[in-house]
Amino acid sequence: MKHDVVIIGGGLGGLLCAYILAKSGRHVCVLEQNQAIGGCLQSFKRNNLTFDTGFHYIGGLEEGQSLHNLFRYFNLLHLPWQKLDTDCFDEIILQGKKYQFANGHERFVETLSQAFPHQKENLQQYSRKLQEIGSSLFDNFKGKAFDFYESPYFTQSAKEFLDTTIDDENLKCVLAGASLKMQLDEHLPLYIYAQINNSFIESAWRIKGGGMQIAESLVNDIRKMGGDVFCKQKVTQLVEENGVVKRAIVNHGEADFEADFFISDAHPARTNEWLEGSKSIRNIYRNRIKNAPNSFGIFTTHLQLKEGRIPYRNCNHYIYETNDLWHISESRNEGKSLLVNYQVPQTGEYTRNIDLLTPMSWEEVKQWEGTAIGQRGDDYQTLKKEKAALCIALAAKHIPGIEEAIEKVYTSTPLTYHDYTGTQCGAAYGIQKDHNRLLQTILPTQTPIKNLFQTGQNINLHGILGVSITALLSCAEITGMDWIKGEIGF
Ligand SMILES: Cc1cc2nc3c(=O)[nH]c(=O)nc-3n(C[C@H](O)[C@H](O)[C@H](O)COP(=O)(O)OP(=O)(O)OC[C@H]3O[C@@H](n4cnc5c(N)ncnc54)[C@H](O)[C@@H]3O)c2cc1C
Repeated sequence: MKHDVVIIGGGLGGLLCAYILAKSGRHVCVLEQNQAIGGCLQSFKRNNLTFDTGFHYIGGLEEGQSLHNLFRYFNLLHLPWQKLDTDCFDEIILQGKKYQFANGHERFVETLSQAFPHQKENLQQYSRKLQEIGSSLFDNFKGKAFDFYESPYFTQSAKEFLDTTIDDENLKCVLAGASLKMQLDEHLPLYIYAQINNSFIESAWRIKGGGMQIAESLVNDIRKMGGDVFCKQKVTQLVEENGVVKRAIVNHGEADFEADFFISDAHPARTNEWLEGSKSIRNIYRNRIKNAPNSFGIFTTHLQLKEGRIPYRNCNHYIYETNDLWHISESRNEGKSLLVNYQVPQTGEYTRNIDLLTPMSWEEVKQWEGTAIGQRGDDYQTLKKEKAALCIALAAKHIPGIEEAIEKVYTSTPLTYHDYTGTQCGAAYGIQKDHNRLLQTILPTQTPIKNLFQTGQNINLHGILGVSITALLSCAEITGMDWIKGEIGF
């Protein structure tokens, strides 16, 4: 079967690329290994309730904000978005004390200044920097070349920025407190910290009915534009001839897909495996990817709750029982950090399901690598049960009645992600970007093979916003940057 472009992986990155390239008139094909499309956007249903596996909320969706133009272009604004409370979209609970993040930079500063009046000027400086970096988001598309490797926003760490801007240790923790959606450690570049936080301060949104709707909407539109989207098509090899990729072989030879261009949305280590023996990919490149660090994984406790017991809260809680937020993924912090996300109820004021998310390292589950889902043995079940109990106990300190309201518990670990999405080490946010090792950890969209490109969260930015920007950069390799600029209206 011949297409103009074959896209490997039907996560957000792959689907956005397919959407853009189908819109440019190219005949595209998405090959997804799983039964269902979406990657980290996948939701699952139990007893008529929808649970999200990865994505839980986004920022900057209002007109004029970071994600709005992109989601308008991708026809995603019609989905049932639910705006979180503007006076408190994230509540940071630090050792029992509560702090609110409000929308709009001015209100954000005002709200936190009430708790930290002596830090008002520093908070203003903090907010100005976030806005400055936020406004550079589309520089690459506006003729102001933005160099990931040279920009001071990338070479400075988030930690250094906080240390030099804020001189109250408690406030530093509060500001960093919504950071379970990135790996907060001393390696984290300021740019990533600032873009993500800035977009949520602009506005914050959940989706009623599950993140899967994003993937479904994209697939519908790709098909309407003549594109193909196939599930259960695991790419196992790329066939290279004369320095270009000719075909993608799926399921060890069951079928092959020919194209002029290929884009991989999978982890780059996987992409290299499909090209084993290729002379175009030198060892130095293979090693760069093999040695790139991966972010922590996430352990999720999905709670199915009895009806009418737990009031829906239109905000997230970030709960910490430690002040050491910069080493949160280390085992000594087990059971001490949690992101609590309420699923928007279909009707009424009570939620039927809540997700509790906490970092989990690959080392904790590595010994079960290679076992089949659902058949990993009793020790694995015990580990999950103990971990879920710690998460529920922490949530129960702040959500009265939650333990008694639980009807059923489902859990997932980094091994679940590893097996479902093929991500290296079950990393929640892909390759861990390091301000000191930008060349090793920020990958270009090009590969050493001229008709093979990369996209998705491993390349330069993660999250819905980051993956959307990267999709534009990946497609510009094929369409040219001017076409992309015209399409989005930059
Ligand atoms: C627990 C969790 C919570 C998160 N919460 C948020 C949030 O609230 N807000 C936010 O903005 N971001 C969040 N994120 C991050 C966000 O979901 C991801 O950055 C984004 O969805 C990644 O998209 P992707 O396309 O890069 O990768 P993926 O979603 O991993 O997609 C890659 C796809 O490639 C497929 N694939 C791999 N190998 C092959 C192969 N050999 N053949 C065919 N297909 C293959 C996989 O099956 C998968 O579908 C969260 C992530 C996690 C894990």
